Amino acid sequence: MLRDIKLSSLSTVVFALGAAFVISMYDRGMTLLYSNPYQHGLWYLGFSFAAVLILQDAYFYFAHRIFHHPSLFKWFHRGHHRSGDPTPWTSFAFDLPEAIVQAFFLIGIVFILPLHFITLISVVMTMTIWTVWNHLGFELFPPSFPHHWFTKWFIGPTHHSLHHRKYTVHYGLYFTFWDKLLGTQDPQYGYEFDSALRRESA
Ligand SMILES: [Zn+2]
Ligand SMILES: [Zn+2]
Repeated sequence: MLRDIKLSSLSTVVFALGAAFVISMYDRGMTLLYSNPYQHGLWYLGFSFAAVLILQDAYFYFAHRIFHHPSLFKWFHRGHHRSGDPTPWTSFAFDLPEAIVQAFFLIGIVFILPLHFITLISVVMTMTIWTVWNHLGFELFPPSFPHHWFTKWFIGPTHHSLHHRKYTVHYGLYFTFWDKLLGTQDPQYGYEFDSALRRESA
């Protein structure tokens, strides 16, 4: 946990520098950030929020798979995987290069997609809470969660714990879509492993 906290402190600095860069670009009028919620219609606040989550999930999935390439793993991603059984402290435990790649999405998106400040803050808060949730290391939802027609599309603690143990499955951030589509969803998810994790945390 102490090791994870040290890495997270480094990530905090990287994300804070990214935020400072975004604000200074906003002051120069170079971003697509806006402050009047009616500028693109109220519907757009919800639409852009969902769009950023979907785009970030795709960005994360493919970046994460690249991090696992044997020639890159030790530089980009070993820090995050030091915890075989993650805790919430693991959520932002990134090596410096990984922290830069993760922050890069949130910096880049303000130049690509018009976003209200509240939308951007909501995305960052959702990302933080969801990432902590994914790293709880124990499950709170019922065993039906991976099988329900709606919730099976969302990543939770059991899903991501499997990634920390097996490395070769479950690269997504929010949604199981890419893992299902590209064959990196563990067939055990929702079955044997799930009940093993529940027994351990009971
Ligand atoms: Zn993780
Ligand atoms: Zn990984």
